[in-house]
Amino acid sequence: MEHPENSAEYKGLTVNSGVAQPSIVNPYLKHGRFRRRQMSAADYVEGILIGDVTVLGRAVTLVESLNPEHQAVAQEVIEKCLPYAGRSIRVGISGVPGAGKSTSIDVFGIHVLEQYGGKLAVLAIDPSSERSKGSILGDKTRMEKLAVHPDSFIRPSPSAGSLGGVARKTRETIILCEAAGFDKIFVETVGVGQSETACHSMVDFFLLIQLAGTGDEWQGIKRGIMEMADAIIINKCDGNNVDKCQLAATQFRNALHLYPAPESGWTPRVLTYSGFYNLGIKEIWDMVYQYVDFVKKNGYFEHRRNEQAKYWMYETINEQLRNSFFQNPHIVSRLSAAEEMVLSGKQTSFVAAKQLLDEYFTGMREKKDGE
Ligand code: GDP
Repeated sequence: MEHPENSAEYKGLTVNSGVAQPSIVNPYLKHGRFRRRQMSAADYVEGILIGDVTVLGRAVTLVESLNPEHQAVAQEVIEKCLPYAGRSIRVGISGVPGAGKSTSIDVFGIHVLEQYGGKLAVLAIDPSSERSKGSILGDKTRMEKLAVHPDSFIRPSPSAGSLGGVARKTRETIILCEAAGFDKIFVETVGVGQSETACHSMVDFFLLIQLAGTGDEWQGIKRGIMEMADAIIINKCDGNNVDKCQLAATQFRNALHLYPAPESGWTPRVLTYSGFYNLGIKEIWDMVYQYVDFVKKNGYFEHRRNEQAKYWMYETINEQLRNSFFQNPHIVSRLSAAEEMVLSGKQTSFVAAKQLLDEYFTGMREKKDGE
């Protein structure tokens, strides 16, 4: 049987078919330096489709921008790239800080590029990055080998906005990367809860990195995260830690049996490995591709992607409505007074919220009538 990775589709060969190849001279580079000029949506799309990572990087910056003009161009670029997107394998990689995500992604990335060819983009969802004013996830310095690999593109988490906003931008970035010929996408996230749900909603396979603990593995891992995992991989299975890791693997396997069978029909696996010593990596990726083969055959791959597209439509509506409400000048001027009424017990939360919403919708109607 042909391994799924050997098919043209997996190698990304169909991604850019019919468009110019990367050997074309980059129109945005002059004398090796970036020539800053206003680029149109068509310029971005052209650059992305020839696989120009400089243009791709600029387009991602546009996607992340809060400027409405940038947003308008970004949406046009995304729409035009959409027909070229979707032909990749998207893998979510999650784990608490210190679990070894960056070490692992570095070796995983090099492994899949060497074993299967193609191009890899590493993106991140890190809602904490807004507070820390900089993302620790997806940082190139944490992935030394991958950062200098010619077929990789590493992008830290967008830093502005709510988790929903950050996640939406990551999802839009996936589309741009795929259109640029990246046929393998890793989405890194830190294992604390909500960001996993967001990550899970945009990937085909969700890998949860765990460490062998002292028998209290279950503490700190929410059941929901375990249920999302298509595989649990126990890192640092090296040196004196091997027995402990194998014991932890047995415990995880037993625990997974107690969960309802996943909709995919796939039985989640538990494997041990060492990112640092490069042990057990092949087994992990053989498993991921085995999964992809399995769900492509039983139709779940397509089903999950469709469900995700639907989810993102509703998420986008929610986000845009929320933004429109909270950025409305009248609402901005009214919020603290409304808060005061609730805090002093003069109004219930529900009445205050309803009043603000009524004022918002009345204002919107009047604005529309006045146009
Ligand atoms: P992250 O915070 O999840 O990105 O974790 P890092 O990749 O930065 O790893 C945290 C620490 O664990 C670092 O000191 C790594 O050197 C160490 N580490 C990562 N993978 C392994 C492994 O497979 N074995 C051992 N012994 N240490 C590891």
